[in-house]
Amino acid sequence: MPQIRSNFMSRIKVGIMGGTFDPIHFGHLVVAEEAYTSLNLSEVIFVPTGNPPHKKFKMVTPAEDRYIMTCMAIVDNPHFKISKIEIEREGTSHTIDTLREMRHWYLPKEVEFFFITGIDAVLQMTSWKEPSAIAKIAHIVAASRPGYNISQLESLPEDIREAVIPLEIPLLAISSTEIRRRIAAGQSIRYFLPWTVEHYIYKKNLYSLEGR
Ligand code: NAP
Repeated sequence: MPQIRSNFMSRIKVGIMGGTFDPIHFGHLVVAEEAYTSLNLSEVIFVPTGNPPHKKFKMVTPAEDRYIMTCMAIVDNPHFKISKIEIEREGTSHTIDTLREMRHWYLPKEVEFFFITGIDAVLQMTSWKEPSAIAKIAHIVAASRPGYNISQLESLPEDIREAVIPLEIPLLAISSTEIRRRIAAGQSIRYFLPWTVEHYIYKKNLYSLEGR
């Protein structure tokens, strides 16, 4: 039977949740869910970074572990998906390359991208590869973080600022850095992240001083 396509195609609004997720925690999940509901997105695709350019001199957990932890964290949410696009691409991961590749997954007129990340990452955007091109391809959703103010976004160049959508999140003072610090110090991380992810971390001895 021939496929009948409606002339009234509505655009799919796709959230792209970029992050190192080292490890993923409830702060990330709250941001993704808040973006999904308040921006009326069709889905949110989590994209764990492969080789982040800004972390060349830092120790980052192997991509496969970060990918597995992210899968575990999102599995019970039907509108959350995950992609290995950055992990499987050779070389350094740049957001613009990811967005250009993802555009081929959809017909250009049918999709609207919302790149979601923390406000502190957005404030560094001028140092990224082709920031103006990113702002042309996607809306940039800047999630609030403790210690940062939405007014700081005024410092961005106009073309980037126009693409930015600030997203106020109930402030959860959880960060991946704090989780890693607590594990290394032998402190509890219970209720910071899904228990499945917590168990994976202990099973693989991630972030402990001996595990390094
Ligand atoms: P980061 O420096 O680790 O994180 C910056 C801040 O944003 C941290 O406070 C982090 O909190 C928070 N954060 C990260 N992802 C978040 C998310 N999806 N929602 C809410 N908060 C988030 O930055 P990153 O995670 O490595 O990178 C963020 C995104 O920017 C990635 O997609 C990365 O590829 C992209 N990026 C691109 C370039 C480039 O193209 N040249 C350069 C830098 C970053 P936690 O520590 O708790 O996660």
